Amino acid sequence: STASSKGGKDESVRVVVRCRPMNESEQVKSCERVIEIDNQRRQVSIKRPSTESSQGTKSTDDTHNFYFDAVYDWNSEQKNVYEQTARALVDSVLEGFNGTIFAYGQTGTGKTFTMEGIRSKPELRGIIPASFAHIFDSIAQTTSKQFLVRASYLEIYNESIRDLLSRDQNKRLQLQEHPKEGVHVHDLSSFITKNIQEIEHVMTTGNLNRSTGATNMNEHSSRSHAIFIITVESSEIGADGKAHIRVGKLNLVDLAGSERQAKTGSTGDRFKEATNINLSLSTLGNVISALVDGSSHIPYRDSKLTRLLQNSLGGNSKTIMIATLGPADYNYDESLTTLRYANRAK
Ligand code: ADP
Ligand code: MG
Repeated sequence: STASSKGGKDESVRVVVRCRPMNESEQVKSCERVIEIDNQRRQVSIKRPSTESSQGTKSTDDTHNFYFDAVYDWNSEQKNVYEQTARALVDSVLEGFNGTIFAYGQTGTGKTFTMEGIRSKPELRGIIPASFAHIFDSIAQTTSKQFLVRASYLEIYNESIRDLLSRDQNKRLQLQEHPKEGVHVHDLSSFITKNIQEIEHVMTTGNLNRSTGATNMNEHSSRSHAIFIITVESSEIGADGKAHIRVGKLNLVDLAGSERQAKTGSTGDRFKEATNINLSLSTLGNVISALVDGSSHIPYRDSKLTRLLQNSLGGNSKTIMIATLGPADYNYDESLTTLRYANRAK
């Protein structure tokens, strides 16, 4: 089947797909690669693993093709992903607009690699540290404006919001609707950062708080959404002699794993948690697809994640969804689900 891209689509939402390389254990097991990427055509193809169709009648509908704004295969470099997807959005934040970059996909497919990367290796740094460098370099080169950069870092776990920069990690924050400023997180810490080192320190602190609160970090990060927020305020003296203030907000979101949460045997808290993760991700999909379709009702209110990001999704804001995939046969079902989700968002 072929899912063709829509014509005349909304330029404010871009959807890209990235597939990671086979890892060592997949290579050792000689896993079959079911993903093909054609950069020129911006196409991702997924083929049903041969073992699944070997019994009886062979399906004629074994390959699905999808088209996106950009596609990145296992050889893609962090630097190129930043330059081609994130740079323009960060530039618009520097000019006073809001922007959001999401990493969406099954656990283990490269969301954190894409957003954060390997911070000790400069060439493997992801979008978040690359945006720090971009923002502070750009500020250093602009003499006509004064800038103020602030950073916040929070997590949504089980529909409750935790400030990753607060001294009190047991405190839960509430969303408030401000008549002028719109939706905001009440009491969220924010730190003024004057250079790359300071904002990296903020990120390191938040990451430490994220992991110390969790008994099993892998499981925790696969079930929670992490949002790093950079607010860039600029002030420029206009022709009228008055200061013109602009505020742009950049939301960098490492989403919870999109894999279907086990429903069998999960009861009580675990069941509620699984339902909440799926609620946020499915609401996000509904919000983005409603925005792209120009629908009059955008269901922001249906989840904490979308309510929190309400002022940064739609309107003048730019949104980038990076959907991440694993290449191997055993990920077929989840990869197809991810591609369908991403396809709906464009
Ligand atoms: P997720 O955050 O989606 O659970 P990770 O970012 O932790 O996944 O990635 C899982 C593993 O795969 C990590 O060891 C990571 O370094 C590696 N990895 C992910 N994407 C890539 C890539 N594009 N190139 C090389 N290694 C990658
Ligand atoms: Mg991760």
